[in-house]
Amino acid sequence: MLKIYNSLTRKVEEFKPMNPPNVGMYTCGPTVYDFAHIGNFRTYLLSDILLRTLEANKFSVKHVMNITDVGHLTGDNAGDADAGEDRMEKAASKERKSAWDVAKFYEQAFVKDFERLNLIKPSLMPRATDHIKEQIELIQKLEKKGYTYQTSDGVYFNTSKFKAYGKLSNLDEIKEGARVEVNLEKKNPRDFALWKLSPSVTSEQTQRHMEWDSPWGKGFPGWHIECSAMSMKYLGESFDIHVGGMDLKSTHHPNEIAQSEAVTGKTFVNYWVHGAFVLVDNKRMSKSLGNNYKVEDIIKNGFDPLALRYLYLQTHYRQEMNFTWEALEASHKALERLREAVGRLDQSEAVSAPSQRLGVSGRDFEQKFLSAINDDLNMPQALAVISELLRSDNPTSFKAQSLIKFDKVLGLNLWDAPIKAEEAEIPENVQKLVAEREELRKQKRFHLADQLRNKIKKLGYETKDIEDGETEVKSLK
Ligand code: AMP
Ligand code: ZN
Repeated sequence: MLKIYNSLTRKVEEFKPMNPPNVGMYTCGPTVYDFAHIGNFRTYLLSDILLRTLEANKFSVKHVMNITDVGHLTGDNAGDADAGEDRMEKAASKERKSAWDVAKFYEQAFVKDFERLNLIKPSLMPRATDHIKEQIELIQKLEKKGYTYQTSDGVYFNTSKFKAYGKLSNLDEIKEGARVEVNLEKKNPRDFALWKLSPSVTSEQTQRHMEWDSPWGKGFPGWHIECSAMSMKYLGESFDIHVGGMDLKSTHHPNEIAQSEAVTGKTFVNYWVHGAFVLVDNKRMSKSLGNNYKVEDIIKNGFDPLALRYLYLQTHYRQEMNFTWEALEASHKALERLREAVGRLDQSEAVSAPSQRLGVSGRDFEQKFLSAINDDLNMPQALAVISELLRSDNPTSFKAQSLIKFDKVLGLNLWDAPIKAEEAEIPENVQKLVAEREELRKQKRFHLADQLRNKIKKLGYETKDIEDGETEVKSLK
């Protein structure tokens, strides 16, 4: 039974989809005006492990992740997503490109990094600019129902008309990001733009690259409306799961709920899942603070991008984590050791394993692993089960079979890693002695462990004790 923390009820709950075994899941995707940073990717990794965990529970997931290529203004850094410059247009003038070219370039870069981190490609990645019609239609429906009003710069959602506005985050939390410059035309400070009108053109510089005709005049959609329009188009008016970073819980998501539920009168989403931030020196990693790193930086510094994945898996998704290069280095080494240990296993039987499903065999370790991931995605615990399995005195083919299934959830590519020739050649009887010796050391029976070391040496192999009770084995020949 999968349990997950639902921000809506503020509780860990059993996950029950509306139409089992099908699950509809939506993740708020990147704003493609710059490279996504590794903080953003922690949130996308959360979607990925949730998706993989759902699949391990035999659910069939349709995952939609949008691409924000218009309408996300810089004002939201200061608490007002309706003020400031359009990030796309700002990047366009800086890079001397059109906003369309900027979007295309960074979307491609995003997909490349996504693959490098072994994140499963969503079923659909719709772009906001390809869904202007749907967004206008939704605003028209809201207008008809009396939820909107017009100002000199656009069309706004009247939050006082939507009674359940504070259901995801209470109003105080939403208010936290209050305005910097007060827009006097807004009826309530938390009202938000559905459609923004293009500024009147006085020079080439004020002419927007991205703008569309609408019943209210030429302009562009507000940031929030795209997610309501695209998620409901592809997943239906009500669906199961919506994922995003913690900041969205009190900004973007209450507004998505308001727009969608005001139109349909139905519950928009049943489970809201939010991931905690990556910090640098105890400040949120963000593009605006300039304290962010990219996947490219990880690679340039000689690290496997999956070491970042491993690093993130070591902390529970609802806990903030501080990024340091030292921590990444430790994860890189730990992943290397894990791959080496896996590489020593007998793969032949595992590859032809009859069942790829977790827990089907009823074996202890698989059940433990499944319980860990089903306990609100407790990946640190799942990693501990792996170490335990590797240390156990089970046959290597048994270990390999389970590890193949575990890796489907963890996505660490344990099996693709090159197997070091010298280690692959270590015979089964030596490996067995090594495992026995590790067990003795765990029980602090060092005298007996030393005797086994000598026995292993006589067979032509040397053992070296490394962290976590594991052993490095080398041929003496
Ligand atoms: P953006 O491209 O700014 O719209 O952000 C994309 C996603 O990354 C959103 O779900 C954000 O909540 C999330 N995000 C932004 N900064 C961080 C961070 N430092 N750590 C984790 N997630 C983040
Ligand atoms: Zn969204």
